[in-house]
Amino acid sequence: MKDDEKNVSGQENGSENQEKKDEYEDVCFICRRPESKAGKMFKLPNHICVCNDCMHKTMDTVSQFDYQGLLNYPSGSNGNMTDYNNGKGFPNISFVNLADLQGDGGIPNKQKLKKKKNAQDAAPAIDIKNIMPPHRIKAKLDDYVIGQEHAKKVISVAVYNHYKRVATGTMDEIEIEKSNMLMIGPTGCGKTYLVKTLARLLDVPLAITDATSLTEAGYIGDDIESVVSKLLAAADNDVERAEQGIIFIDEIDKIAKKKNTNSRDVSGESVQQGMLKLLEGAEVEVPVGANSKNAMVPLATVNTRNILFICGGAFPDLDDIIKQRLRKKTSIGYNAELRDKYDKEKNILSQVTIEDIKKFGMIPEFIGRLPIVFTLEGLSKEMMVKILAEPKNAILKQYQKLLALDEVKLEFDEGALEAIAEKAMEKDTGARALRAIIEEFMLDIMYEIPKDDNIGKITITREYIEGNGGPVIDIRSNSLENPDDLNVIEE
Ligand code: ADP
Repeated sequence: MKDDEKNVSGQENGSENQEKKDEYEDVCFICRRPESKAGKMFKLPNHICVCNDCMHKTMDTVSQFDYQGLLNYPSGSNGNMTDYNNGKGFPNISFVNLADLQGDGGIPNKQKLKKKKNAQDAAPAIDIKNIMPPHRIKAKLDDYVIGQEHAKKVISVAVYNHYKRVATGTMDEIEIEKSNMLMIGPTGCGKTYLVKTLARLLDVPLAITDATSLTEAGYIGDDIESVVSKLLAAADNDVERAEQGIIFIDEIDKIAKKKNTNSRDVSGESVQQGMLKLLEGAEVEVPVGANSKNAMVPLATVNTRNILFICGGAFPDLDDIIKQRLRKKTSIGYNAELRDKYDKEKNILSQVTIEDIKKFGMIPEFIGRLPIVFTLEGLSKEMMVKILAEPKNAILKQYQKLLALDEVKLEFDEGALEAIAEKAMEKDTGARALRAIIEEFMLDIMYEIPKDDNIGKITITREYIEGNGGPVIDIRSNSLENPDDLNVIEE
């Protein structure tokens, strides 16, 4: 075969052939597709070309056929098992896709662990000298997350301390405590977003789970250790990287102790109990590349000692518990008449104490393992307007970029931004509502614009958002020369 190839290439080196080759595309002998469609060709003797796909299909078919032909020898008692080490023949693997077995030993990458690096050439994932100081972490967060100044500050310091602890191991018998966190804030105020941004900035793997799906091991639902399994997958099955990652458990308030229940609380208190050892640091055996342990998947041992756990939840009704506590204080003595003063206070959540969280239904051992508790504020209209336009990947910037590809300029006037923010405030789902609102009215625009090449610029106004008018459309030639004439032309 090699000789033949040499021959062919030898012939093709001739100047005549070379010219020909330049003028015509090779065509696959089997599927008749040209080189431009089928990709590079295998060149066989007699100017026969075969594309990559056809070559592979042929090889597969031939090898299967061969095996079946060769397998006429006594097989084992179960008909399939044969001893192929003693040189009698090949195992009966004709029903197995041979491509799967090439090189991999049949196991998909998804289920394989990364090799451990040699101690010498393993560069530490986090170098203590290179850990970003808190003010720099916060400055980076500022580019993406609007407001939430307190939360950003707390999280930057906690993360800084955590990775210092990871990098040093134990320091002179004074072990630095693990800085797991509990984040409390209304829905859509940026809890998940903050953690996601942080993990991206630090370049550590992140797993996000919902506490609602967790149940005590053995019951229907994901068992608690599945969160570590997810992290391992996020770290490309690299155990060392996973052991320095972040696990974010959302909706943590949903595993509060159930009140007035007679049955076993398998998705509430038991989950909190089950999570204790993970939070503190334990060796857990997790399935690689699958959600549940079974005989078919390999297991890996992951130590959670250096994994940073961040729990987040909206904790509805927690404000009532706080108000109740504050009222109790004021109902005694001179201030008794001010009982309703807390009802109007906006950021009541920021006065939360461990006692309040216990009263909500979290068990003391659980909260004890989340030493850093902080709150996020609900979003105000001003914050919403900023979220629309200011972050590095703001929604408006995304739409502007999309339209710029059609060479159309998209602008929102100040009134439009406010109108969107007002609409979003009504929905009470935080910044999550913004995207839904924008998508609704941008649909028409994104549909109509490619129809008309003359459109040069679109300005979204408050009237358009409120349904009382259309967007202002500028025609291309005019938008370059004299934008003031536009409305006349439109009419
Ligand atoms: P939750 O607090 O319920 O976890 P998310 O973090 O999922 O809310 O927020 C939903 C979306 O809203 C995010 O993807 C992000 O785009 C946007 N968002 C929310 N809060 C902020 C904020 N403070 N700054 C910038 N964007 C935000």
